[in-house]
Amino acid sequence: MKTKAYSIDDRQEMMCSQCDIEQVHKVLAVTKQGTITKAACETCESVSTFSRGVKTEFATGKGKNASPYDRLRKYRKGQAMMHEKFGRGEVTAVVEPHKIDVLFGNEVRRLVHEQS
Ligand SMILES: [Zn+2]
Repeated sequence: MKTKAYSIDDRQEMMCSQCDIEQVHKVLAVTKQGTITKAACETCESVSTFSRGVKTEFATGKGKNASPYDRLRKYRKGQAMMHEKFGRGEVTAVVEPHKIDVLFGNEVRRLVHEQS
């Protein structure tokens, strides 16, 4: 798959963990191949780190707090949450209809969602 090559200071819309919506991000770092490795949200200033196109880490800026994790809620990729035990996390993937992978710091945990 051929993807666009980015350079530092490029603007790219992507899901912001803090804002909970797509926001324009400023590219802070790229690989030689032009893949984004670090980008900051222009609205809330949170910084996301990527490895091979997958978000591996993110640091929060001055944005609003993530809402508490709720297993009854339906989550989508890129959404942020606040877990009572693991702290702030971000959904990296919906793996099964009722299971999500959530990145806490630099550790991914599998949680349930959309429970009834
Ligand atoms: Zn943001």
